[in-house]
Amino acid sequence: MSLAMRAAWCTVLLVACATAQAPFGKVIAIRAGKLVDPRAGAARSDQVIVVRGDRIESVRDASAGVPSGAQVIDLSQATVLPGLIDSHTHIFLQGEDPAEGGYDINILKYPLAYRAARATVAARRALEQGFTTLRDVETEGAGYGDVGIKQAIDEGHIPGPRLFVATRAISTTGGYPLEGYAPELTMPKGVQIADGPVEMRKAAREQLDHGADWIKVYMTHRSWVGDNGELVSQPTLTVEELKAVVDETHGWGKKVACHAYGGIGLQRALDAGCDSIEHGLLMSDAQIAQMKRQGTWYCPTLAVYYTDWAPADTPEGRRDRLRASAHEQSFRKAMKAGLKIVFGTDMGGIKWTEPIAQEFDRMVELGMEPEDAIRSATVNAADMLGMGGKLGAIAPGAYADIVAVSGDPLRDVKPLHNVQFVMKGGEVVRHQAP
Ligand SMILES: [Zn+2]
Repeated sequence: MSLAMRAAWCTVLLVACATAQAPFGKVIAIRAGKLVDPRAGAARSDQVIVVRGDRIESVRDASAGVPSGAQVIDLSQATVLPGLIDSHTHIFLQGEDPAEGGYDINILKYPLAYRAARATVAARRALEQGFTTLRDVETEGAGYGDVGIKQAIDEGHIPGPRLFVATRAISTTGGYPLEGYAPELTMPKGVQIADGPVEMRKAAREQLDHGADWIKVYMTHRSWVGDNGELVSQPTLTVEELKAVVDETHGWGKKVACHAYGGIGLQRALDAGCDSIEHGLLMSDAQIAQMKRQGTWYCPTLAVYYTDWAPADTPEGRRDRLRASAHEQSFRKAMKAGLKIVFGTDMGGIKWTEPIAQEFDRMVELGMEPEDAIRSATVNAADMLGMGGKLGAIAPGAYADIVAVSGDPLRDVKPLHNVQFVMKGGEVVRHQAP
């Protein structure tokens, strides 16, 4: 078809062409008062971002003007950033209150459709807060529900971020709830349980076959205060078991995220070549050095360990406080060592009605520069997801995932709590007057 013919045809089939044929898509020019380049850690003044279809076509000085016929969005009083990325969420969890049945009621009482409805709300909330991408690291007993939510978002049925999903996750016998029921009962589990390298590889294959973008593995389970006042967590998979998962997953061109608090479980995660360590509450200097050497990503999820502490004079209360203080030290050491850090919250462990941006506050409180905190939620996360240049950046060829705040988030991350403008893939999701 000639260009002229296609242009005429597209006038008739406007909507279909706008999504399918980016070069003929709608053109939007966004005037940015300040435009943050996270990789440079700096902002440029008075820029124009030209969006065509779902991609960014160009970024230019405002003095160069806007393309004729473009729809103009005026953010000249705002600071514009790439859409934010939360690399550790659970849209199928809702910060369950123990008094209302806690974690178990989710799996034992709630119909899957009810959980999916709430996951839909969680996804929308994330998007409205400027998080245009989530790595959602397992559904907690809701099977492949995340694949379904992702499909509904991608096909435009519901609003939500781009999802990178981990489906069911994997642990070993004795390595995940539901727990504490009569041994005569076969209880459902919040993850897929597997034992031995053969079962592990099969579990990974099943999950990848059914749409997992990442494989999530629980390398530790439970934690308590040891005899010498140290934080202890129970290891789950052996090195051989995790190696089977990693080998299989890498063969599919995908990556493995390992929940690991510390000790033996964290060591096995590193020795088996996992790609990202989740939480990493207690990382030794040697383990940090190994992560640096192997290029392992670190997703700390600080904020969630400050919620719901048990009373101080109970074993759980002492454990909760020790988790937070150990984590603080590990995070500081990781920064000092120059580990590759990504922003992650464990939302779902935190109620979705709470602000996602609270993680920025914690990161900065523990000594991270605001520009590094912003990097962790943009370029770093995009690199980890294998989407460098397409996500987490405002540059030609990137997806038009764009947010705006008032104030200067490179100096103070507080404005990230109040994202006033959100565009995802060239579509305006939110535009509030400043
Ligand atoms: Zn989690």
